[in-house]
Amino acid sequence: MKNRGYYGEFGGAFIPEILVATFDELVDAFEKAKNDPSFWKEYLEIMSTYSCRPTPLTPAENLSHYFGGAQIFIKREDLNHTGAHKANNVMGQGLLVKRMKKTRVIAETGAGQHGVATATMAAKFGFRCTIYMGEVDVKRQRPNVFWMQRLGAEVIPVKDGTAILKDAINEAFRDWITHMDDTHYVLGTACGPHPFPEMVSYFQSIIGQEARKQILEKEGRLPKRVFACVGGGSNALGIFKAFLDDPVELVGVEAGGKGLPTGQHASRLASRDGSIGVAQGYKTFFLQNNDGQMKETHSVAAGLDYVGVSPILSSLKEQGRIRVESATDQEVIDALSLTLKKEGLIPALESAHAFAQAFKEAGKLNRDDLIIINQSGRGDKDIFTIADAFDDPSWKEFIQEKAHGYTL
Ligand SMILES: *Cc1c(COP(=O)(O)O)cnc(C)c1O
Repeated sequence: MKNRGYYGEFGGAFIPEILVATFDELVDAFEKAKNDPSFWKEYLEIMSTYSCRPTPLTPAENLSHYFGGAQIFIKREDLNHTGAHKANNVMGQGLLVKRMKKTRVIAETGAGQHGVATATMAAKFGFRCTIYMGEVDVKRQRPNVFWMQRLGAEVIPVKDGTAILKDAINEAFRDWITHMDDTHYVLGTACGPHPFPEMVSYFQSIIGQEARKQILEKEGRLPKRVFACVGGGSNALGIFKAFLDDPVELVGVEAGGKGLPTGQHASRLASRDGSIGVAQGYKTFFLQNNDGQMKETHSVAAGLDYVGVSPILSSLKEQGRIRVESATDQEVIDALSLTLKKEGLIPALESAHAFAQAFKEAGKLNRDDLIIINQSGRGDKDIFTIADAFDDPSWKEFIQEKAHGYTL
């Protein structure tokens, strides 16, 4: 039996017998690639020529001055192709697919960002591509469906269950079981059965490797704290990994939604509502009822609205190596508003969770303390949600007209 990817008691690979050989093949391909220096070189080459690596580390002088405490730096994952850190993961998995000589990729997507990223990768590498998406999400995310189709992907609406992300995941696994020979399932975050948590965070670790080098080059010392939002956990692990052995505080920020006491949130680690369970092929903290039924989650940011969390983060939290906080929808909108006005940056609503928490803490730190916020993506995609949240009457008509049937 191969290493099944446990982090403390979390992780594992709870998969049907029929998929064991496919997972073994993937683990083998990944281990070989990791031990082959030419693989990482190839990865860096594609990420610097097709995406925007290394992404800059931007000093946020105006925000630093405004809070009067720590000096704030922002790691710019928003500058990646397709507008978020997701490119790091899909391009890495794409290179592995080439090595495994497979010709087709499938993926699940909720808000559509991972679907679009996977479809670009498939077009670039010449793979056939099928994206599973809950029927409800297909209706809410028309622009992303449009781009996936234009990029050559087949988008299959899933009608089962509640027709959202988790149903799309089940359907993608069903597809994989019937097409294992030529197909790879490009999982979108550091969750799911082994080796996905390890593999996805391996590709995302490029974020922290660059950020650590950049801050040392610029300031000659390490940051005091690093902040990242936590959906499935891939951008957080991506920036945290390089600092794990350093005396640096690592702060993950989950979706506090309408506030933890309301129960309408997606906070698996920072709230008391999460409990340990096994679902979707791995063991971690889930938002579930006593009988293991998954609860409904809520967040203003679609990318953080998920019932599970990376087993690697669950383990780091249990060890006390990371701190996990939450930011409410309102705190996130306020942080986004301030960042737009002070720095001219447009963080994604997901990323703005990390900003919100950093802003709560920055003023209490000293002027010679450095902090890094991971801006996991850009906010252009959130135009209708943000316009709605700012509740500006002059934009109401535009929102109702253009956003009809989109995400609101
Ligand atoms: C998808 C997404 C996230 C959440 O995913 P993680 O795996 O937790 O990183 C965060 N930010 C942006 C911009 C995203 O698109």
